[in-house]
Amino acid sequence: MSKKIAVFPGSFSPFTKGHQSIVNRALPLFDEIVISIGINSSKNDCFSINEKVQWVKNVFSKEKKVKVTMYEGLTIDHCIKVNANYILRGLRNSHDFKYEKGIAQMNHSMQNNIETVFIITEAKYSHISSTLVRDIIQNGGDVSQFIPEEIKL
Ligand code: ADP
Repeated sequence: MSKKIAVFPGSFSPFTKGHQSIVNRALPLFDEIVISIGINSSKNDCFSINEKVQWVKNVFSKEKKVKVTMYEGLTIDHCIKVNANYILRGLRNSHDFKYEKGIAQMNHSMQNNIETVFIITEAKYSHISSTLVRDIIQNGGDVSQFIPEEIKL
């Protein structure tokens, strides 16, 4: 049987405990999870792609089933490139659901052998967003409770 490979795509700007929890809970479902950090020039990003890749590599350094990469272009094209049949996403609330539903249905229309799998966040992480973490950083606050301990900003 072919390996079950999932791509977990995102901006991860920065990678938070919410993201970490989604990956950890999805690990029993897949043989490999490729955390794929999008290179998105239109997004106002205060972190470089290389530092984001290095942070996530540090978080999962002991987990052999997790790979970390960066990508540009369509997520489905990246899935084909890394032989993934699944896209992993996290859901915090109805706003996430509405947004994710459209993307998942568009991706499925374009590539019907790639399924999007959603994991609903643990309640204790549902308030964490990269945008808010960035705001706190930009205003000099302490974000250590929101990001994995392996990430030293
Ligand atoms: P994007 O810019 O593609 O939305 P993000 O880095 O913001 O990427 O998020 C990547 C994925 O992680 C998305 O599916 C998002 O809904 C999910 N996510 C973000 N924060 C959390 C959280 N606190 N708990 C669970 N999932 C989350």
